[in-house]
Amino acid sequence: MAKTYDHLFKLLLIGDDGVGKKDILFRVTGDTCNTTFITTMGADFKIKTVELDGKKIKLQIWDTAGQQRFKTITTAYYRGANGIMLVYDITNKKSFDSLQDWIRDMEQHASSDVERIILGNNCDLDDKRQVSKESGEKLATDYGLKFLEISAKSGINVEEAFFTLARDIMTRLNSRMNDNNAPGDGGPENVSRCLLT
Ligand code: GDP
Repeated sequence: MAKTYDHLFKLLLIGDDGVGKKDILFRVTGDTCNTTFITTMGADFKIKTVELDGKKIKLQIWDTAGQQRFKTITTAYYRGANGIMLVYDITNKKSFDSLQDWIRDMEQHASSDVERIILGNNCDLDDKRQVSKESGEKLATDYGLKFLEISAKSGINVEEAFFTLARDIMTRLNSRMNDNNAPGDGGPENVSRCLLT
């Protein structure tokens, strides 16, 4: 069957239970006309297609659906990931502190050339804020990552977060292609082979 996209990027949502990962996924992919693919390893993904520089990019966005407690899925979950969203809840300091552990986990399991962004969710709940925007920015700067505050509920910055990550992956892909002058050599398009198994 003819391919209907130019690139396929696997993106992961990572963070403590309750920070809003599921809602972010639903906000960006919508409820309708979008199948949830449930894999045998207990993590789900949904698809969103975006256009970047005239190219059709299929984003395959994974959420562990609370399964992150079971360490056994970790390796399979990270395999082939092109981008990772590290999510905390700005009204929950503990979820922010946990990001250090998630970053460690990610560094242990994900490929070193994965693009990453830190997202402070629930920014519509400013009156309940426990983590300042500056703290989020500082953590991101310390690890050399990008940062956005978002709201899955109101939609603030959600699309932007996905575009930012997709654009960074695209930039890396383009520079790698230029370096190697060998397009398609095991790049992100090939991740689909190891999915749904
Ligand atoms: P997950 O365990 O990380 O997948 O978290 P959920 O997506 O299940 O979200 C946990 C709770 O926070 C749910 O009741 C959501 O409706 C709520 N929630 C998620 N994102 C936001 C947000 O941006 N603003 C507000 N006010 N509530 C949110």
